[in-house]
Amino acid sequence: MSYYAAPIAKLIEAFAKLPGIGNKTAQRLAFHLLDVSDKEAEDLACAIINAKKSIKYCKICCNITDRDKCNVCSDPKRDESIICVVEDPRDVVAMERIREFKGVYHVLHGAISPMDSIGPDDIKIRELLNRIREGKVAEIILATNPNIEGEATAMYISKILKPLGVKTTRIAHGVPVGGDLEYTDEITLMKALENRREI
Ligand SMILES: [Zn+2]
Repeated sequence: MSYYAAPIAKLIEAFAKLPGIGNKTAQRLAFHLLDVSDKEAEDLACAIINAKKSIKYCKICCNITDRDKCNVCSDPKRDESIICVVEDPRDVVAMERIREFKGVYHVLHGAISPMDSIGPDDIKIRELLNRIREGKVAEIILATNPNIEGEATAMYISKILKPLGVKTTRIAHGVPVGGDLEYTDEITLMKALENRREI
């Protein structure tokens, strides 16, 4: 990339690090930004900085929010006794889209993966246990992804929940094996939720 001026090379490099952006697209984006007005470029830079600054984890469910409690946790109509455990904040969005689930969530921010040295302490399992120990929880729905990591995580959580006597269910395999909850269509996800089974 030495044939670009250093600031442009840096910009291209930054774009190329983003998911789904190859070198060609990174170049196109960088050169596009050189053509836009200063104001437009500044607005984009500010939007990134503001999003990074204002977003934090909900103190109850660890979903991302710009307040202390996320929209779901601050909604008095939601049933706090049913917690749907998901891997990623985007999975909450997928579940909310089906408009069927009236409980609350817990976002793990990952899944157990010995291959990547991600253990139980690296994701938000402790926070989930603390919620359960408060005693208001009747059912935990494990809606981690149906791949190796997601299954391992569901198994691990169900095992540590056993002694606590909380009903634990796993969403059905309407969700394609190896699939990603986020990309599952709404009807499949609704069926997977309806057909969940106790584990
Ligand atoms: Zn929350």
